[in-house]
Amino acid sequence: MSFIPLSQPDITDAEIDAVVNTLRSGRLSIGPRQARFEELLADRTKRRHAIAVSSGTAGLHLALLSLGIGPGDEVITTPFSFIASANCILFVGAKPVFVDIDPRSLNMDPTKVEAAITPRTKAILGVEVFGNPTHMDRLAQIAGKHEIPLVEDCCEGLGGTHMGRPIGSFGRVGVFGFYPNKQITTGEGGMIVTDDDNIAGLCRSYRNQGRGDMLGRGTPTSASPHDSRAGSWLAHERLGYNYRLSEINCAMGIAQMERLDQMLAARCRVAGLYMQRLMDFPDLILPNMGVDPNCEGSSWFVFVVRLCDLYGQVERDRIIEGMRRHEIGAANYFPCIHLQPFYRRQFGCAPGMFPIAESISQRTLALPFHNGLDETQVELIALTLKVMLDREKLLKR
Ligand SMILES: *Cc1c(COP(=O)(O)O)cnc(C)c1O
Repeated sequence: MSFIPLSQPDITDAEIDAVVNTLRSGRLSIGPRQARFEELLADRTKRRHAIAVSSGTAGLHLALLSLGIGPGDEVITTPFSFIASANCILFVGAKPVFVDIDPRSLNMDPTKVEAAITPRTKAILGVEVFGNPTHMDRLAQIAGKHEIPLVEDCCEGLGGTHMGRPIGSFGRVGVFGFYPNKQITTGEGGMIVTDDDNIAGLCRSYRNQGRGDMLGRGTPTSASPHDSRAGSWLAHERLGYNYRLSEINCAMGIAQMERLDQMLAARCRVAGLYMQRLMDFPDLILPNMGVDPNCEGSSWFVFVVRLCDLYGQVERDRIIEGMRRHEIGAANYFPCIHLQPFYRRQFGCAPGMFPIAESISQRTLALPFHNGLDETQVELIALTLKVMLDREKLLKR
């Protein structure tokens, strides 16, 4: 058996054929595949609008821009996430205000969110970390009470539900990402979802060089963008970007969406194998998705275990190294955002500011997780992890 990677995209002939057909169609950008991919995401999340963009990060940028957030504004978010969920706040010149997390769900602690609201708070940006939607309903309530929007960074939660509602339907605006380690991939790509016509129109315009009016008209899907007679094509209403997603990517996305339920079931199966195999490891805290044990409604993004307090960052990092030496891809998901070199330098962030997030992020460890993992591989990973844990214990004697 060779190296077991941390993640691996699930690509079949359906995706390959879809891409080849697109190449043969001659229409490579702004076409029917974008419209269809958007429709599939809007349906799945029960939202009026879906706007395809070039990445989850681009989508978060446009979400904040379309809400009118800018310099002088504060946005409350989590220090325990992928860095893009805080960086997007900086893209628009606003200030990220971090709050500590709840140790069970690893998501922002709603009580601390409410305590952090000031007159300058212009949004709450919540993340379903590792696909766990716990507290998103509470964040929506708090945002509603204070009359500020909730931005849902649902990049890790496609296909999941919470309190009977799809992930992606909680925020004024939600954003998905389709990087190759996500539940579905388009290589690179993202999707903004919202019920708000105004936000949708602005996002459509911003992704396409600021073309068009508030309804997104002048962003031709039928008129060829190469046709100089398409008058509005050269009218730029606002400072925009090129955050479009090509037809090639959208073709992949359609094929992946058609297999989403099947892929979520495969991820559930792998998570179940891990749960069963690791249940009896006394030094591990297993992921708590906050949903029922049959996986109903959950969308597994990664499989992250936490070492108990006997172990620290040094031991955790050595375990990751050891697993890699045994050809098993493991990783330290996530290092705290506020302790990244850039945030320390720019904002004077330092250890001790968010003790729960910091303590947890020193002890978390992502194990290989993808649709095709089988029992033998999970057994190999579990055995290797056990040896590494025992080894660390002996070293401490
Ligand atoms: C993946 C991810 C993003 C960014 O998505 P990209 O498509 O890689 O830009 C943003 N936020 C979170 C929480 C993510 O996991």
